[in-house]
Amino acid sequence: MPIETFEFQVEARQLLQMMIHSIYSNKDVFLRELISNASDALDKLRLESLRNDELGEDVSDLHIGIEVDKEQRTLTVRDNGIGMSHDEVVQLIGTIANSGTAKFLKELKEAKDASASEELIGQFGVGFYSSFMVADEVTLLTRRAGESRGTRWESSGEGTYTVETVDDAPQGTSVTLRLKPEDIEDKLFDYTSAWKIREIVKRYSDFITWPIKMAKESAESTESTGEDGDGNGDSPREVETVNSMKALWARSRDEVTDDEYSELYKHISHDWNDPLETIRMQAEGTFEYQALLFIPSHPPQDLFMQGHKRGVQLYVKRVFIMDDCEALMPEYLRFVKGVVDAQDLSLNVSREILQQDRQIQLMHRRLVKKVLSTLKDMMSGNPERYATFWKEFGRVLKEGLLSDFENRDAILGVSSFASTQDKEGLTTLRQYVDRMKEGQQHIFYMTGESRSAIESSPHMEAFQAKGFEVLLLTDPVDEVWVQSVPEFDGKQLRSIAKGEVDLDTEEEKKEVEAEREKRQQEFAGLLTWMTKELSESVKEVRLSSRLTVSPACIVGDTHDVTPALENMYRAMGQ
Ligand code: ADP
Ligand code: MG
Repeated sequence: MPIETFEFQVEARQLLQMMIHSIYSNKDVFLRELISNASDALDKLRLESLRNDELGEDVSDLHIGIEVDKEQRTLTVRDNGIGMSHDEVVQLIGTIANSGTAKFLKELKEAKDASASEELIGQFGVGFYSSFMVADEVTLLTRRAGESRGTRWESSGEGTYTVETVDDAPQGTSVTLRLKPEDIEDKLFDYTSAWKIREIVKRYSDFITWPIKMAKESAESTESTGEDGDGNGDSPREVETVNSMKALWARSRDEVTDDEYSELYKHISHDWNDPLETIRMQAEGTFEYQALLFIPSHPPQDLFMQGHKRGVQLYVKRVFIMDDCEALMPEYLRFVKGVVDAQDLSLNVSREILQQDRQIQLMHRRLVKKVLSTLKDMMSGNPERYATFWKEFGRVLKEGLLSDFENRDAILGVSSFASTQDKEGLTTLRQYVDRMKEGQQHIFYMTGESRSAIESSPHMEAFQAKGFEVLLLTDPVDEVWVQSVPEFDGKQLRSIAKGEVDLDTEEEKKEVEAEREKRQQEFAGLLTWMTKELSESVKEVRLSSRLTVSPACIVGDTHDVTPALENMYRAMGQ
């Protein structure tokens, strides 16, 4: 078979350079990434074998194996999962499909120091490529389930890789790392030490639901601390399962440490950071399920891209069924990651069936309510954490005001807004209403591109002069939801850029009215003339009572779209 040589895609090459020069100090995580991929591959194979009787692969002993070879200074992570075809290897391993990568790399280049780079890498996560933090050569041998021939991929991470078709490859994938010699000399990074590997597996991958098997410690391994005890050298090749495989979501809160939750989160989210919040749910009775949900501390790259994923995985009785289960979480909670394990569904359940299943709909409702109530608790109990949440995900959550009428009040209740009341901080609608002036009927807001653009708008003058608080709404989604939310706590939301807005009390109004009539007569000629001259652009020219500094401003009819929305529609070509 000929050996083909390929070049890594530009982005992939840049990323690899960074891995080789290892700017990430916690190198141990490479093993977590390889195990995570192996575990995903096993999930996929089990699922495919459930759906396809003719696959013809043995699924009776699915597991992950880890082998170290001190002499060859290699470490191998093996799985008998789904594997990859020749084209998949080139596509999945040779390129980085994630469209956020370019942005990430740009930021990485601009990062000033090692710790800034480290934080970025942590945010992004580099999966398979993290192998090159510890290896100077990586070999991947794989065979796609159902295919007869396999593929060998090899690279030193320096620009090119080779691909070769091989006749006899075992089912699944094995990744062999030739470890960097300088690491082996450093006890801390000696990945040829079986003891060290066990420790990393226990720390990062204990909950993996597939067995992770290693050869039992034999007497020859000098660095063994004796934790294995038996020291029985008779059968050094005897294997044992290193991880406990405990499904964290099925265990009670006090049995699980925060670190364990964190590692599960990292496995399912492919994030390298700890989650911001962990949410547990256990439902018993006729429809039993357990849920473990996480709110991330950083948004994923694809949060606002088309085809983004919702992060909740569905399990049925501990068996992984699907990623990205849209029947369980609404679009506006797409940042929530986690696992839902239902007891009474069929393993063969499809997305279509899920969408219609009444039990699933009930579960969906309860999960949404739980997430919203957790946010509410966070808001009062941990304002700092809530502030982080709002900064990262507020824009997404507000989309729910447009789609989830049942929970609209709950969403409004956990939303915050910029306001003229406070230069830096945010306010809730409740706080706004509590501060409303005597006689103020409405909640005033204005939408716009930025805080400063709104503040310098002539619409603001009268409100500023009278000391009314105005909400400053600058997210694109604000344009839309304000149209569909009629009120909060009985107070209507009113745009200050639209129509007649009442600012005055009754007596003031009379005075103003009299004054206006007088001036109206005074300026009647001018106004008629201006209305005629400007008839192409405006409906009517009238005197205003609301400007204090600016000579004129354009207002919309009460039912017109706001200026910012008009711009948005225009930008969308409507
Ligand atoms: P991620 O896991 O976040 O998708 P990785 O860089 O870890 O990114 O892996 C890239 C892709 O390569 C995976 O999505 C998967 O399709 C494929 N892959 C990696 N390892 C394996 C494996 N052991 N078996 C099958 N496919 C794999
Ligand atoms: Mg991965």
